[in-house]
Amino acid sequence: MPHYDLVIIGSGSGNSIIDERFDDWNIAIVEKGVFGGTCLNVGCIPTKMFVHPAELASSPKAAAKLGVDLELHGVRWAEVRDRVFGRIDPIAAGGQRYRAEECPNVTVYTGAAKFTGPKQLDTGTGVTITADRFVIAAGSRPVVPSVAGIDEVGYHTNETVMRLEELPARMVILGGGFVATEFAHVFSSFGVQVTVVNRSGALLRAEDADVSARFTELVSQRWDVRLNRKALRAERVDGVVRLHLEGPEGAEVVEAEELLVAAGRIPNAQLLEVEATGVGTHADGRIVVDEHQRTEVEGIFALGDVSSPHQLKHVANHEAKIVQHNLLHPESPRRTDHRFVPHAVFSSPQVASVGLTEDQAKAAGLAHVAVTQEYAGIAYGWAMEDTTGFCKLIADPVTGQLLGAHIIGPQASTLIQPLIQAMHFGLDARTMARGQYWIHPAMPELIENALLKI
Ligand SMILES: Cc1cc2nc3c(=O)[nH]c(=O)nc-3n(C[C@H](O)[C@H](O)[C@H](O)COP(=O)(O)OP(=O)(O)OC[C@H]3O[C@@H](n4cnc5c(N)ncnc54)[C@H](O)[C@@H]3O)c2cc1C
Repeated sequence: MPHYDLVIIGSGSGNSIIDERFDDWNIAIVEKGVFGGTCLNVGCIPTKMFVHPAELASSPKAAAKLGVDLELHGVRWAEVRDRVFGRIDPIAAGGQRYRAEECPNVTVYTGAAKFTGPKQLDTGTGVTITADRFVIAAGSRPVVPSVAGIDEVGYHTNETVMRLEELPARMVILGGGFVATEFAHVFSSFGVQVTVVNRSGALLRAEDADVSARFTELVSQRWDVRLNRKALRAERVDGVVRLHLEGPEGAEVVEAEELLVAAGRIPNAQLLEVEATGVGTHADGRIVVDEHQRTEVEGIFALGDVSSPHQLKHVANHEAKIVQHNLLHPESPRRTDHRFVPHAVFSSPQVASVGLTEDQAKAAGLAHVAVTQEYAGIAYGWAMEDTTGFCKLIADPVTGQLLGAHIIGPQASTLIQPLIQAMHFGLDARTMARGQYWIHPAMPELIENALLKI
């Protein structure tokens, strides 16, 4: 049975651990799918590569408000799609080739791994291996709600929908989180009639309540949004998917050529049978880790979606760096910093957030002030004629330290960055607002004015 110094399960963020400092380690990496993981192949990167052309396709409407008449002549879907994957697929293939052929100390197993005993792993290739240390970086997968007939009608997830042969006339999207709303933006901008079916009463409901409400209100003008709906049954009739729903007004049916399931993601820990090696999991399926990313078993680490409450690539990358250090320097382990984890939703409008929502600050009993600055109140907002976006800040009223920041509107994912920086480095609102120049009349004046309100 081959024995290794280190086995890494998953070639997403786990793959980035191996660098020249591990050259004298005997390492195996096990990957069951496409090399490079979710972010590269079926997540962050391709979705954002679709979002950009989607924004171009939807610009005529925004331009018309400013007196500029643009016309969309069409979207060449096959070209849009092939540009994205023409860039990504070679990177995934190159990454695998590099590890398999150019790293003499690394063995790549292409199989679905599962533990069969303490520090013993079936690689899914007919070879069982053991190791002194393991890194479980096996990610998460889409949750498919139990809807009668859903397997028979055929549905897409993020793993398949970006490779559609052609754009459908209509698409039903099950889910109301960031994956659902980013795809709704992409496909509706490309001319697909989109229906979003969500169990709860608002989209992006993990966001601050004001942001979630504004987002839901705005997108409901463009997409057919069905809230408080439970999907009961799916059938395909003459090539059309019919999804039977139950909602506040009783039974209803939505129809589309394609069904996309984007209803959350579940960690892959159970599929790995981690209990066979003594690794524990939370009730939601995540692997239990301490602040050093160590599982309950000495020498076994976990990182990213398989263990993190934040299913985000920048968090997985940060955790991979911590694991890398702790593998190399077990005598002086580092801690993961999860204090201020930001995220963005690349839908339309964009949303970005870091820290507490107002409701969370209230629930935690924290003294706080909440202020809101509309884009409509800054010069660049006038330039864009934006009447719906805003920045909401939550801060300690005594110290001015930021507790949370939430932006909905153009460039939210970029505008949030100085606020993330302020929170990380303990910069209070007054010092941040008054202690530096803010370029006039640039968009960050949104942040400056919000800070001044604190
Ligand atoms: C549509 C979509 C859009 C996203 N957009 C963003 C975004 O804009 N920004 C952001 O921060 N995050 C985004 N995310 C989330 C981000 O992709 C994940 O948080 C991140 O990729 C997790 O990295 P990871 O290394 O934990 O797992 P992954 O990258 O998923 O890597 C895990 C790897 O393990 C492999 N594996 C699983 N089980 C086994 C097994 N039993 N044996 C062998 N191999 C196995 C998998 O095939 C996979 O390659 C998005 C996710 C999706 C689905």
